[in-house]
Amino acid sequence: MQYRTFGKTGFEPSALGFGAMRLPLKDGRIDDAEATRMVRHAIDRGVNYVDTAWVYHDGESESFLGRALADGYRERVKVATKMPCWKIERPEQLDEIFSQQLRNLRTDRIDCYLFHALSAGAWQKIKEVGALEWAEKKVARGQIGYLGFSFHDELPVLKTILDDYDQWVFCQLQYNYMDVRTQAGTEGVRLAARKGLAVIVMEPLLGGRLASPPPPAVGRLWESLPVRRSPADWALQWVWNQPEVSLLLSGMSAFAQVEQNLDSANRSAVGSLSAGELAVIDRVRETFVSLVPVPCTKCGYCQPCPHGVQIPDILDLYNLSVTYNNIAASRSSYDWIREEGRAHHCIACGQCEERCPQKIRIIEWLKKADKVLR
Ligand code: SF4
Ligand code: SF4
Repeated sequence: MQYRTFGKTGFEPSALGFGAMRLPLKDGRIDDAEATRMVRHAIDRGVNYVDTAWVYHDGESESFLGRALADGYRERVKVATKMPCWKIERPEQLDEIFSQQLRNLRTDRIDCYLFHALSAGAWQKIKEVGALEWAEKKVARGQIGYLGFSFHDELPVLKTILDDYDQWVFCQLQYNYMDVRTQAGTEGVRLAARKGLAVIVMEPLLGGRLASPPPPAVGRLWESLPVRRSPADWALQWVWNQPEVSLLLSGMSAFAQVEQNLDSANRSAVGSLSAGELAVIDRVRETFVSLVPVPCTKCGYCQPCPHGVQIPDILDLYNLSVTYNNIAASRSSYDWIREEGRAHHCIACGQCEERCPQKIRIIEWLKKADKVLR
């Protein structure tokens, strides 16, 4: 296993972290035996960081991890979990949730604790309920090791969160070779690292999409390289190539994925990709962008739909499913869109199309999206 640096802490994380959000299932629930075998195998091969959250697997992931890390495995890893910021309305809830998380994880300390999915609104709210002071007390008492946050909002919001508070030790950002200008993007990753934070990368394969069999135009680009690697391996190496990255998380669903990711991590290093390889990855990105069917810029001018349809999110998922030829990943993400906001609630009133600056035939695309995503 390759080990890296974690901000200013002195902790040396494994290049690969185990994400417990896409564990293998049996009869619709976490397959305890197989998932435990995967987690323990990863730790036996050098992984020293495992990540979960209150909400993963409908609230079952933390408890699973508590069981999986028995028999001495807990002491061999840093455990990370997250405060579900959207649930917090009263200060007392912070302690209630945290105490339950300690019980779930069968531990008396969370090594790396994150405020989950900070956005502009969530940042305001956690400041107002005193969550930062609460977390600082937990750090002082040793119940939290390092304090951080995860993030899916846009770069200006990240800048605010980094500028407003100087006690962050780490952050967890969505980042992969397609997301260089979306969410935090390359600029956000570099900014956080410059401020001394450890940067944990999530979604290095864009929800598995970058591991899908590539469309022919992308496949030809990969084949043009003298070194043969899987699309997933190229995507992971691209992340590890960057000095700002402390580790990347992979949400592994099968034992074979654990083996593949361990193999990739063992070959990883900062600066390991050549200029030629990086240039081909740039062309892969451009090719994927050219394959996007709906030219939605996510400007949001079509919102709100009087019938509650979440137009930009749906068009985005449809674009992802077509571009990366991975319907399963987009269907899984579609579950996050509340039922009332889904495409089949469109009554074709046409108001959104009048407001769309890209002149997108939204009604027609929503019908297509409904067929693919439902
Ligand atoms: S056409 Fe459909 S999506 Fe657009 S505003 Fe009307 S109901 Fe909403
Ligand atoms: S107005 Fe058009 S471009 Fe903007 S989010 Fe809506 S569909 Fe996309």
